[in-house]
Amino acid sequence: MPSDPDKTRTRGIADNRDETGRPAPSPAALPNLSEELTAARDVMIDRHLAGRDITDEAVLGAMRRVRRDLFIPESVRVYSYDDTPLRIGCGQTISQPYVVAFMTQTLRLEPGMRVLEIGTGSGYQTAVLVELGAEVFTIERHDDLSLAAEHALDRLGYGDRVTMRVDDGTLGWPEEAPFDRILVTAAGPKVPSRLTDQLADGGRLLIPVGEHRGRQDLVLVTKTGDTLNREEILPVSFVPLVGADGF
Ligand code: SAH
Repeated sequence: MPSDPDKTRTRGIADNRDETGRPAPSPAALPNLSEELTAARDVMIDRHLAGRDITDEAVLGAMRRVRRDLFIPESVRVYSYDDTPLRIGCGQTISQPYVVAFMTQTLRLEPGMRVLEIGTGSGYQTAVLVELGAEVFTIERHDDLSLAAEHALDRLGYGDRVTMRVDDGTLGWPEEAPFDRILVTAAGPKVPSRLTDQLADGGRLLIPVGEHRGRQDLVLVTKTGDTLNREEILPVSFVPLVGADGF
């Protein structure tokens, strides 16, 4: 169990209920996707993901199913399926769909894997990981974002596969380690050694590394026994990772 239960919100199926004790609304009760957003979603999948180098059908299927619009503030919801990052509050952004798809495909997830995500943000990437069968542990430093993400994940029926906490994710989550996959969705000056320590043998870790707000590279670290292999695989632009092993 985590050492500080105050920071951790774990919910099981039994907790998926509202204050009256009734089960929370099922995904079937969600508002329908408008015609405009349905068309935009098709363009996102066919042109911006499959039309580029996203070839993994499971990733394409997951990104078709997850309602990105319901993770996004109402003021920018019309842009939900554009291939662009969007503001989600607290000076943070939800990543561009192509980058979410690329990172997810590069993780090579298998159902049942334990995944540590640093930077919950809107919770959208978390939902994509759950769609692919992962059990996700996700850390966010802004309480407001974590709460909004929790609400969206519960509403969409993903909550029982997610454990969340508000903390400095550069420290990892030692009580729950090792993790099969680690995904950092904010850019740091280096690969935090605490995170590679918490990676399982055969595990894969992705993190953008580079300047505070400038040029960064997505770095893939693979672990075999005690050996770490590091590869720079895509130029990217992420918000800063702020913390002990961040900026
Ligand atoms: N995966 C998110 C992207 C969020 S942007 C999504 O799909 O919406 C990156 C997030 O990382 C921001 O919310 C930011 O607050 C958070 N962050 C930055 N440094 C962090 C740290 N040290 N620990 C946890 N979260 C951090």
